[in-house]
Amino acid sequence: MSRFMEIRPMGSIGAVDNLTANTRFQVYTERQLDQIEPLKRLPEEQRFEMRVVANVLPFRVNQYVIDELIDWSQVPNDPIFQLTFPQRDMLAPEDFERMAAALRGGADRTEITRLAREIQAGLNPHPAGQQEMNVPTLDGVPLPGMQHKYRETVLFFPSQGQVCHSYCTFCFRWAQFVGDRELRFASNEADTLHRYLGRDRAISDLLITGGDPMVMKTRHLQNYLEPLLQKDLEHVQTVRIGTKSLTFWPQRYVTDDDADELLRLFEKMVRHGKHVALMAHFNHWRELETPIVREAIRRIRDTGVVIRTQAPVIRHINDDPDVWARMWRTQVGLGLVPYYMFVERDTGAKRYFELPLARAYEIYRDAIRQVSGLGRTARGPSMSAGPGKVEIQGITEIGGERVFVLRFIQGRNPDWVQRPFFAKFDPEATWLDDLEPAFGEKEFFFTREYQAMCKRALAKAS
Ligand SMILES: *Cc1c(COP(=O)(O)O)cnc(C)c1O
Repeated sequence: MSRFMEIRPMGSIGAVDNLTANTRFQVYTERQLDQIEPLKRLPEEQRFEMRVVANVLPFRVNQYVIDELIDWSQVPNDPIFQLTFPQRDMLAPEDFERMAAALRGGADRTEITRLAREIQAGLNPHPAGQQEMNVPTLDGVPLPGMQHKYRETVLFFPSQGQVCHSYCTFCFRWAQFVGDRELRFASNEADTLHRYLGRDRAISDLLITGGDPMVMKTRHLQNYLEPLLQKDLEHVQTVRIGTKSLTFWPQRYVTDDDADELLRLFEKMVRHGKHVALMAHFNHWRELETPIVREAIRRIRDTGVVIRTQAPVIRHINDDPDVWARMWRTQVGLGLVPYYMFVERDTGAKRYFELPLARAYEIYRDAIRQVSGLGRTARGPSMSAGPGKVEIQGITEIGGERVFVLRFIQGRNPDWVQRPFFAKFDPEATWLDDLEPAFGEKEFFFTREYQAMCKRALAKAS
């Protein structure tokens, strides 16, 4: 009998009501904003503002988030409200005004959509050269549902997993959820994936991502995962699944129809020697407080799957070291492993969410100081930029010059990894592109090589 079958029957848990409430998935998008009960208490003007923004940036929220995660007495400052509901300042004032005027004037769908596309195009929808530079090929044919940027790890975007249970307002993949399918990375080619993995013995990790792969039915996930147990894919040791489902729909692991099959699939993968890691996205300790998320975590851990955690540091949501310290402590207490703190990317509503790198670093340091070594497994703050993942390691003074100390956690060239390098301190810089080399150097040590890589990729693409 599988270990997971010994799971406590639900009836024996104290907070049964909290586990059985919201077991039916109900979701609201921009068109159903008016049906969200607690919003009806907000001023008409604020609801209109939400509608304006939701016509440009993706919006989707479910009943569990509304009922059990948001503290409506704290709106609009509640962090989970900020995480899921559109806010006026997420758009530049001129963009906001244009969309507001169109809606007030009763513009038709076609006109609204055209305007939305125009505004979206100005929000750097595809940061870090994702479309040109990371797409692998198999026998000369590009595989658009995959990315292979770092030697060891392939990203796979299963087509059935390209939505989420709710959308994060700051999502860096926001462009996939609005507009044309062609903007979307997606693949349902399980076979192509496995053939690609089979040809490259340097690939040790498969990262299944989205959207949210955990919106998929278990049988779909099974098609992608089970073939990894074949002998010719032995070198793929780790399967990571990127997901926000523990926040937005922990029912996936507890009360959904195929929750038990899912756990059995996890267990099978682990039993056959794979390291399976759920890369769970948590922005705030509040996401970890409901009885059902606790039960979901317990059930997942019973299968032998490891839960690692990551999130960006975001203004209005978690730009506070005490929030991070409490979140990491809670995670360690629940057996989760803190993994990354990211810097918000240079895309979408970044004007609303971004923080100076100097502030992100302060938050990281103040938070990490407060937790034990088991919580200090979180690296960051890290920028997923074109050349690689760049971490701010410190701010210091060298030979009278104030500098950022940086390193690559991952590099497009593996040889860049872990070499310290330095940028002039700039209190306003929010992204790698804003930084200049320190000590009068003309460029960073990787600049020339990276530019050559970009040129080659562009030539190949055209
Ligand atoms: C972060 C990331 C990975 C995984 O890197 P690790 O350092 O192994 O966590 C892989 N591919 C891309 C494109 C990434 O951004």
